[in-house]
Amino acid sequence: MNRISHWIDGQVVESSSGRSAEVFNPATGEQTAAVDLATVDEVDAAVATAKAAFPEWRATSLSKRSEVMFRLRELVDANRKEIASLLTAEHGKVLSDSLGEVARGLENIEFACGIPQLIKGDYSEQAASGVDVYSIRQPLGVVAGITPFNFPVMVPMWMFANALACGNTFVLKPSEKDPSVNMFMAELLAQAGLPSGCFNIVQGDKVAVDRLLEHEDVAALSFVGSTPIAKYIYETGTKNGKRVQALGGAKNHMLVLSDADVDMAADAAIGAGYGSAGERCMAISVVLASDSIADELVAKIAERIPAVKVGPGNEAGNEMGPLITAAHRDKVKSYIDNAPGEGAAVVVDGRDDLPSEGFFINPTLLDNVTTDMACYTDEIFGPVLSVMRVSGYQDGIETINANPYANGTAIFTRDGGAARQFQFDVQVGMVGVNVPIPVPVSYYSFGGWKSSLFGDTHMYGPEGINFYTQAKVVTSRWPDPAKSTIDLGFPETR
Ligand code: NAD
Repeated sequence: MNRISHWIDGQVVESSSGRSAEVFNPATGEQTAAVDLATVDEVDAAVATAKAAFPEWRATSLSKRSEVMFRLRELVDANRKEIASLLTAEHGKVLSDSLGEVARGLENIEFACGIPQLIKGDYSEQAASGVDVYSIRQPLGVVAGITPFNFPVMVPMWMFANALACGNTFVLKPSEKDPSVNMFMAELLAQAGLPSGCFNIVQGDKVAVDRLLEHEDVAALSFVGSTPIAKYIYETGTKNGKRVQALGGAKNHMLVLSDADVDMAADAAIGAGYGSAGERCMAISVVLASDSIADELVAKIAERIPAVKVGPGNEAGNEMGPLITAAHRDKVKSYIDNAPGEGAAVVVDGRDDLPSEGFFINPTLLDNVTTDMACYTDEIFGPVLSVMRVSGYQDGIETINANPYANGTAIFTRDGGAARQFQFDVQVGMVGVNVPIPVPVSYYSFGGWKSSLFGDTHMYGPEGINFYTQAKVVTSRWPDPAKSTIDLGFPETR
């Protein structure tokens, strides 16, 4: 049985905890590896290593830090297929989707290559007579990342690319469900010239996370995962004096107005609802269909579903893979089981014709969903698309704004004025106009509102640079010592 261990100080370190978690190939249901679960001492060892590496890395010139990121960019680019196949083997998503994940992650490394420009401060000459004022941004120290199973390589890249480029050292606690791919990333970071100790991985569960949350040498924590854990991470981390950004779950709505191109909206709903088996925090899970086009839209989504090719992610041509675990598949299935009793119609039933092995659910379409049903109130995180009928724009926007989640949303319309009004009205962090999955490019920042994000800072992009640095303002004067006098007054600029 393959064993997956920690990466500390530039090498693989086995845990002595005697505890491990099972890692599966979700397409077959077979266990393929066991991942070590860290002890408190092992987390301490990783943090101590990162702390020891910090002074030298922090003092490394911006050009050299940028050079490491450029080299990493080339290595990730050259190893796209290897990274994607590691990802598919443990996550289950189809290879084309894994390659897409690598490509979007890589954009964050490319952004971080520009660190000499990104970290520049301001300078004001002659703020007062002979006095200059300037600001600089400095790294925080040891920062930690705690990441979810659904983007095992892209989400860590959202964090460590900017964190390292800013001069911090990093401890990653990846999801225990698909941990292998980051061990490969650790090797690429070493090959790129990152000094040992700057990037460490502790494999683990709540024991490891709780230790990171309380460790006095961890300055900041970035988290991505479900809402209850995000809230816990934010509350515990900030109580312990850390800077925290904690991104949570989602329930993303796609509002289709009566003037929309219904075929285009149906195509978009299929891609955004069933891509990656719905295990995306930006997946569309609710289609708000305006009454006048709702029947047509439901029919067009339903007629497209049989063409979606479901099967193992590593087989060419498949478009949708399995879910991450048997337990998660059963949970997703329970929402379909319960939907008719709550009054929803199962238009396409994904429980039918399942492969004999693996954690599959086929694309499912529910209609006549209302806001009181569990399939609406809960984040299902599977290939289950719910259609809710709305009378039009106002009904749609009120529904979206009443939902506690606020990660992503999209409007489908040919009316530019309605789209502009939507952008103005909607209480959601990331908005698509005829774009169903509006994940911001790396030079903007990613984050939801309300229960989809705890903390003030969105992730990656300019807000990522701010999160991983602290500002210092220097007021400087070089007076003639011969003219020095004592002045007890408060310094004035005029
Ligand atoms: P999760 O919350 O179960 O786990 C995330 C991380 O937290 C993992 O590393 C896990 O080991 C750790 N963890 C789990 N339980 C913990 C506990 N009790 N105490 C401390 N740490 C704990 O999430 P997941 O199932 O891996 O990922 C899916 C979720 O992530 C979905 O809710 C999805 O919407 C969300 N997500 C959000 C975004 C976003 O950007 N907002 C992006 C991707 C995923």
